Amino acid sequence: MNNQSKRHNGIIGAVYLVGAGPGAPDLITLRGAELLRRAGAVLYDALANDALLGLTRDDAELIYVGKRAGAHALSQQEINHLLLEKARQHAVVVRLKGGDPFVFGRGGEEMEFLHRHGVPVEVVPGVSSAVAGPAAAGIPVTHRSVSRSFAVVTGHTVDGLDAPNWQALAQIDTLVVLMGVATAGEIAERLIAAGRSPETPAAVVQSATLPDQRQVITTLATLAQAMRDAEIGTPAVLVIGEVVRLAQVVPTPLTWLAPMLRKELMPASSTNSYDSI
Ligand code: SAH
Repeated sequence: MNNQSKRHNGIIGAVYLVGAGPGAPDLITLRGAELLRRAGAVLYDALANDALLGLTRDDAELIYVGKRAGAHALSQQEINHLLLEKARQHAVVVRLKGGDPFVFGRGGEEMEFLHRHGVPVEVVPGVSSAVAGPAAAGIPVTHRSVSRSFAVVTGHTVDGLDAPNWQALAQIDTLVVLMGVATAGEIAERLIAAGRSPETPAAVVQSATLPDQRQVITTLATLAQAMRDAEIGTPAVLVIGEVVRLAQVVPTPLTWLAPMLRKELMPASSTNSYDSI
């Protein structure tokens, strides 16, 4: 049975899984903004910038489904069913998610559920904090002759059956960790145990692309302590790898003011090798 013939059951609309971008409201895509303007209902998360809701129709239903203070407002199953219900009421339903819907956003689960129930789904990619977070601190995730690979990993599960393969991740030039504020110390330990040098440059970028953006630049061995000293909170991305030496302080919104003196950021022994970059 194809989608067309399954579209009975009162379904009149389509669900658009829209990436809201990393934080600053103008980092949403043009298609995402256009769908927000047309939507009859918008289901949004905590990480999607509230300013984007200002784009919506006066009569649009705006439904918060994220978590606040650690408690889920709605379970994933409840969100799935709510999307289905809204697709029976509105031609355009937007599911607005921080960053990109398919990067640790459970967008895939929502897509599968809606597809099973005959609801047309379109994914509108977003600028993920995995790349935009480092970029907002002037850190390119790849850089010729410095990093030819990057990986994005969740810091949520450090040990156990769901643990990432630290041995493999220690070999990746640039490692970006999402949801890793609470586990930064354990992550650093695992990587060092797997052979990554404790002197590897490491950074954390909090509230990337937002007015309260802050970043700390240090080394892998000292990352967790430096984060505690600076009282880094969520949301924040960790970046581990030689590219961190390229960091520039970028006051938001994304305008390059004064590049921080690189020498201040780097261990004295390593300044020379990057002078030519
Ligand atoms: N789908 C999102 C990620 C969701 S997981 C994306 O593509 O960006 C949530 C994690 O994303 C947070 O714990 C944090 O690690 C990261 N994150 C999201 N927004 C951020 C921001 N503005 N600054 C720093 N990290 C951010």
